[in-house]
Amino acid sequence: MLELFLDVDGVILDFESTFMDFVREYYIPELPLNYLPKSWELKDGLLSRLDVDQTWNAFMGSGRFAQLNLLADKESFNRLSSTFPLHLVTNLPQEHYGQRIKNLILHGLNYASLNLGGHHSFGIKDYPSKAQVIEGLRDKNRQVFFLDDHPENCRQVKAAFPQARVFLMQRPHNEEVPDEDWERVLDWPEFVAEVDQAVLSRG
Ligand SMILES: [Mg+2]
Repeated sequence: MLELFLDVDGVILDFESTFMDFVREYYIPELPLNYLPKSWELKDGLLSRLDVDQTWNAFMGSGRFAQLNLLADKESFNRLSSTFPLHLVTNLPQEHYGQRIKNLILHGLNYASLNLGGHHSFGIKDYPSKAQVIEGLRDKNRQVFFLDDHPENCRQVKAAFPQARVFLMQRPHNEEVPDEDWERVLDWPEFVAEVDQAVLSRG
C-alpha cells in the first residue's frame, strides 16, 4: 500500500494568489489582477522591485497567511487522508506553524501530521529537508507518494527514495523547468486520479 507526503503552499493552499493580492495592495498597485509569479524567488517582471524578505515578513505578520484559499478540494483530500497515512510537509519556520494549522482547520482538512521541512532553510541551523522528514515518518512497508511544486524538493526526495512516486504539481514558476525524474501533474484532481489509478492497478 502507499502513504502520502504532500507539500502545502502551491499544492493544497493557494499561497501565491493571496500574497500577490497583498503585494498589489501595499507595494505594486499596477500588478495585474490574477498575476502569478513566474519565479519562486519573485524576480520576474514588476516583482523585481520588491524587497522580498521585507514583503514576506509583512505578509506573514498581516494575518492573511492563515486565510489562504484551497487549491485542493476538501472532499477528495479527506477521502485520501481517511484511506492512507497522509503527512503534510511544509517549508516554513516554526513561528508560522500556528497560522498554518489555523488555515487547515478553517478548511476542515484532516491529516496524520503537519511537519516543517524543505529546500529553503531560512538560515535555521539543522533545518531538515523534505527527504529527512519523510525518513523519520515513513512506514517502510508502504510506497511513498510525494507531491510538491518545487523541483528541488522533488529532486531530493527522488534521490533519497528511488522507489517513491514523486509528482511535481505544475505552477507558473515551474512551467519552464525541464522535467527530471518526477511525474508532472497539472493540478490537484490530476494527482488524486494518479493515486486512485495506482490503487486500482494493484487490485
Ligand atoms: Mg510548495
